[in-house]
Amino acid sequence: MRPATLILSLLSFSQAPLSDASTNTWMDWDGLQVCHPADLVSDLSSEEAIVDLITSSSHSQIKTVGAGHSFSSIALTDDSSPSTLLLSLDQYAGIVRTELQEDGTTFVEVKAGTRLRDLNTMLSEMVPPLALVNLGATAAQSIAGAIATGTHGTGRSLGSISAAVEGLRIIDASGRVLDSREDPDVVKFGRVALGVLGIVSTVTIRAVPMFKMKKTVLDVPLDELLANHDAWVARYERFQWSFVPYTNTASVILREEVPFDAPVDDCWVSPTPAVCTDLSYKTLVDSLPAYENRTLYTEMEMFVPVEHAVAAVTDFIEYQSQVKPKHDDSKCSLFTNIRYVAADDIPTSMMHNRDIAVLSFICLGDKDATGDSDEFAMYAQGLENITKTKYDGVPHWGKENWATGEELSAFYDFTDFLAFREKVDPGGVFLNEYTRERLSLL
Ligand SMILES: Cc1cc2nc3c(=O)[nH]c(=O)nc-3n(C[C@H](O)[C@H](O)[C@H](O)COP(=O)(O)OP(=O)(O)OC[C@H]3O[C@@H](n4cnc5c(N)ncnc54)[C@H](O)[C@@H]3O)c2cc1C
Repeated sequence: MRPATLILSLLSFSQAPLSDASTNTWMDWDGLQVCHPADLVSDLSSEEAIVDLITSSSHSQIKTVGAGHSFSSIALTDDSSPSTLLLSLDQYAGIVRTELQEDGTTFVEVKAGTRLRDLNTMLSEMVPPLALVNLGATAAQSIAGAIATGTHGTGRSLGSISAAVEGLRIIDASGRVLDSREDPDVVKFGRVALGVLGIVSTVTIRAVPMFKMKKTVLDVPLDELLANHDAWVARYERFQWSFVPYTNTASVILREEVPFDAPVDDCWVSPTPAVCTDLSYKTLVDSLPAYENRTLYTEMEMFVPVEHAVAAVTDFIEYQSQVKPKHDDSKCSLFTNIRYVAADDIPTSMMHNRDIAVLSFICLGDKDATGDSDEFAMYAQGLENITKTKYDGVPHWGKENWATGEELSAFYDFTDFLAFREKVDPGGVFLNEYTRERLSLL
């Protein structure tokens, strides 16, 4: 059952977030998502090695993990599956090639295991320096993991990281390398692939010349912000805001592009200044020390058409008031965050054909505070129910959610995506319980 080449690699799963090869245990970043694959492989450093692994494997299930930064169980192998393989591509990282385009952007082909933080640094050190157009709140994710779930930042006319993907190489269940330059369906469906179309080998992503931004953090009364919401969104391209339930203060973050010769003051200095100007990625994501000293949290996130943003937030505030009596012995700190993402044409994207407001609910605290937390579930399910029943909301694939296949099929048209999946993985080795449920493949 187990090819000899896999035995050695059990010893070296060190770069995964939390793994113990002696007990075949893998955990995500905060230890809430756990699985026990029969084999853990983390020492592959070339596409050929991945192809060899697939063609010699007889595993019933093969999952590839990125940085283990999904709150949902999307990356896990199933403990109930007879012979499972969990693959980390941490050793398969770096830029393969760049190609300047006529419009001044550059296509950058990146190996799947590359962490976004390392990609930011590599791009900024190029001559001339480059940057990604947008990023999420952190850059700890791998490029392949980030795009698999449609990871996004904020920006009313800016798409997710997946929307900036121009090409892909994916290794299918038979070990064939599918290249989007030969088959456009590979990039059409592979940009938000949920890990079910095969092992992404390289991602070609659009980068732009490095730019600078001014980042401003300010407090605004929550009721005033809601009253003037549309004007804020119209005025600031990169607008986001948050509030702590049961307070009337919203914390607003604005990021505005400034001329490239603007003087820089360090946005990564601690404590973070209320106003600073820096290279784009330093205004978008946390620094490594800030990330390493972060407070753990768990999160769910719902995507609604932007025109419903105020109504959905107002309903969620009303829901919070209703459940307040149950909040009294709280073990975690609560937090609600609102961001904006532009429509795209990716069939499995939360932004498919609609400009979006993203409502997140966060419970700050380590797994003792958030694990099995009835409190987190009470608020998060409240948000999920309000947004899905009243505002056509769908959840983030990589964040905690209770969505059923039936609900998701009513929103997404999975027909072509599933036909492509069937073609590249007829035996379903890249599926797991989470994706089978969500794609109605049980
Ligand atoms: C602290 C923190 C901050 C976050 N901030 C944001 C944010 O601002 N915006 C946002 O949208 N999300 C955010 N997220 C969620 C996160 O970006 C996504 O869940 C993302 O998918 C995680 O990437 P990863 O590299 O950790 O992948 P994993 O979580 O390890 O895997 C995610 C999916 O990718 C698949 N995958 C990974 N590598 C490959 C490969 N080579 N081939 C095929 N499939 C692969 C996995 O099988 C799985 O299906 C955050 C999460 C955390 C913990």
